Amino acid sequence: MLLPAHLSDLLRRTLLVACAAVFTGPTAVAAELQRCSAAHFADNMRAPLVAASDDWFDVHAVEPGVFALVESRQQQEVISWLVVGTTRALLFDTGMGMRPLRPVVARLTTLPVTVLNSHTHLDHVGGNAEFSDVRAMPTAFTRANMRGKTHAQVADEAAPAALCGNTAVGFDTAAYHIRPWTSAGNLRPGDTFDLGGRTLEVIAAPGHTADAIALHDRAAGLLWTGDTFYAGPIWLFMPETDLDAYLATITKLAALAPSLRRVLPAHNTVSAAPSMLASVRDAMRAIRAGALAGTTPAPGQRLYSFDGFSVLVAQATVTAWQAGRARP
Ligand SMILES: [Zn+2]
Repeated sequence: MLLPAHLSDLLRRTLLVACAAVFTGPTAVAAELQRCSAAHFADNMRAPLVAASDDWFDVHAVEPGVFALVESRQQQEVISWLVVGTTRALLFDTGMGMRPLRPVVARLTTLPVTVLNSHTHLDHVGGNAEFSDVRAMPTAFTRANMRGKTHAQVADEAAPAALCGNTAVGFDTAAYHIRPWTSAGNLRPGDTFDLGGRTLEVIAAPGHTADAIALHDRAAGLLWTGDTFYAGPIWLFMPETDLDAYLATITKLAALAPSLRRVLPAHNTVSAAPSMLASVRDAMRAIRAGALAGTTPAPGQRLYSFDGFSVLVAQATVTAWQAGRARP
């Protein structure tokens, strides 16, 4: 999920509605910084918090050797994933870049770490510059995002509303930016990473962006979906999103569902049922068919709500898509 600067107030409120709630559960790593969504945090607590957590990153042990690094005190609730094998580790996304990520990773593993990004929107590459072995998709979109983002481009993400009422967040909000980063090598769909005792395969997942990928652990029945699926409103809103490509991707991922135990998203909650993939596929087909009314949360936007997820698109784009054109 990426929240554009022009995101409607209504949607921001929808996303932040749980901010006022204060979590009072058994594990409060940092009571002074509250989570943006008490409901998502409570859901995530089904996977225990581990000692590598600090007052910014919630580290949940989701599966053996699989850790979710959740930035639950910022509105994106972005989730980076560390997968640790016996010989090396893979870090899938690096978060907002608001607080150093590498020390968190170092508390979890001493093995060499390779970084892949689910896609290169700013909320997934913020810590890339902290790592030397980043593999990137060879797309123009990716190369453009390697330049980082200026403070002006990302200031909204460090504004008080985006920090869910938290003050003293431990970084200089006025200087927040995305550092430029470099690639140590190209990433191609079909690439596999043998971590020792665990092999991850890269699956092309274009749609949300052209450089989107999913990660598949076939033996363990795990699929990391990036922003192709997560619990909050799924953003298919920005110019770089291709709805035809997205539908093809979600159809492909839904076909894997019978062999999956868990879907591991990049925002909000650390685990989802594989059956959600087919639900999203069916939802997108219904949207394309023009069978659903949807709502208009803000001029130019269309929001379609379903059981357990919703989809936000640009009105002009979805109208063109329903007419069989890729673009308005
Ligand atoms: Zn995102």
